[in-house]
Amino acid sequence: MKVGVIGGGAAGFFAAIHVKENYPNADVSILEKSKKFLSKVKVSGGGRCNVTNACSSISELSKAYPRGGKQLKKIFPQFYTKHTQDWFESREVPLVTQEDQCIFPVSQDSQTIIDCFMHEVERLGIKLITQVGISSIEIKEAFYILKSKDDATFEFDKVIIATGGSPKLQGLKWLEQLGHKIENPVPSLFTFNMPHEPIKELMGVVVEKAITRIKGEKLSADGPLLITHWGMSGPAILVLSAFGARLLEEKSYSFTVQVNWVNELNQQLVQDELTSLSKEFAEKQLKNIRPYYLPTRLWIFLLEKVELDPERRWNEIGKKGINKLLNILTNDQYSVHGKTTFKEEFVTCGGVSLDSINPKTMESKACPGLFFAGEVLDIDAITGGYNFQAAWTTGFVAAKLGEK
Ligand SMILES: Cc1cc2nc3c(=O)[nH]c(=O)nc-3n(C[C@H](O)[C@H](O)[C@H](O)COP(=O)(O)OP(=O)(O)OC[C@H]3O[C@@H](n4cnc5c(N)ncnc54)[C@H](O)[C@@H]3O)c2cc1C
Repeated sequence: MKVGVIGGGAAGFFAAIHVKENYPNADVSILEKSKKFLSKVKVSGGGRCNVTNACSSISELSKAYPRGGKQLKKIFPQFYTKHTQDWFESREVPLVTQEDQCIFPVSQDSQTIIDCFMHEVERLGIKLITQVGISSIEIKEAFYILKSKDDATFEFDKVIIATGGSPKLQGLKWLEQLGHKIENPVPSLFTFNMPHEPIKELMGVVVEKAITRIKGEKLSADGPLLITHWGMSGPAILVLSAFGARLLEEKSYSFTVQVNWVNELNQQLVQDELTSLSKEFAEKQLKNIRPYYLPTRLWIFLLEKVELDPERRWNEIGKKGINKLLNILTNDQYSVHGKTTFKEEFVTCGGVSLDSINPKTMESKACPGLFFAGEVLDIDAITGGYNFQAAWTTGFVAAKLGEK
């Protein structure tokens, strides 16, 4: 049996290795359009490669995927975070879990992961072919004929497509022509630009736990929020960008973000806290008593935003002052115009629709014997090693070639 894997990235390598392990007699090739394999793995996680996440609950894990979580939940039992850790560690790649649950190689170097894959590929006798960009697939009887842009042809019995995310719809046309539904690709995982907001002057300020929301929408997120020289970043923003990827594209990236700086949705509790501070520290200046341990620069900025002089005393602001503070702490608003890529780390929302594949096997419904793995599918996650986990899981399942 000849098996062709199109795309030499994370999903393609993982799939090819497992095809060969499942079918030792198969003749397996990886066809890669560029000169180099695994180039995203190389730059991933700031060059350290966040291979997976320590989350070991399948239902929690699937919540990290704005698109595809429901389908992944069904196949995670076959291969999820725990298996990923065992897989690398049993191949002499020790891993370390950070406080934020992200898992990296102990070497803190993505090259370790690449070396591991290259070693496996050599050990198993998988053929590696570079500079072959497949542009069309033809089905002839039981064979798949792959054609490259420069007219080279390859014949396989089974094919796994692992070509990664395509930022443009045009790049997915060849897969649409085979009968697959395509979800329009749009970027996910970005930070918010606030060109007209003075809060940018506070760049570098971090609030450990904030709640963010898109005004007029149900979408919300929580987590650390970082003020940058162009606007806002940090998990509380990136998670909104991922879950709102399509919605925010429809809004042309112009919208209002609401920030609850104190991570407390119960307004009454915040009001009680402010009232009690105003009594306990009645004679102290506003600037010297920060509610909820807010960073000093942010607290002064917020006081000035609601026109409360930071030099005033807590017993001078009255009910009106408390209400102003309550409002700014729980429902501060900023206008967003545009987006910026987060540390060059972006993923594509959209791709081959999961409606077009059998979620149990990753096999195409339109073309039996053709499988998909990785970001080419309409699957993507927030940051934290979840995107690679989707590549490993779908690659592992596709590699069964519908049989095992
Ligand atoms: C800078 C950056 C950092 C990241 N860091 C992390 C991280 O630390 N942790 C994490 O979980 N996720 C991270 N991600 C996301 C993660 O890299 C991707 O989700 C993952 O690489 C997807 O794997 P893939 O194999 O599906 O696609 P890719 O890695 O994109 O691989 C696809 C391959 O297919 C090739 N190809 C495309 N079209 C064709 C064709 N027609 N013919 C032949 N070959 C083709 C491409 O050249 C490429 O080599 C990061 C992303 C970026 C951009």
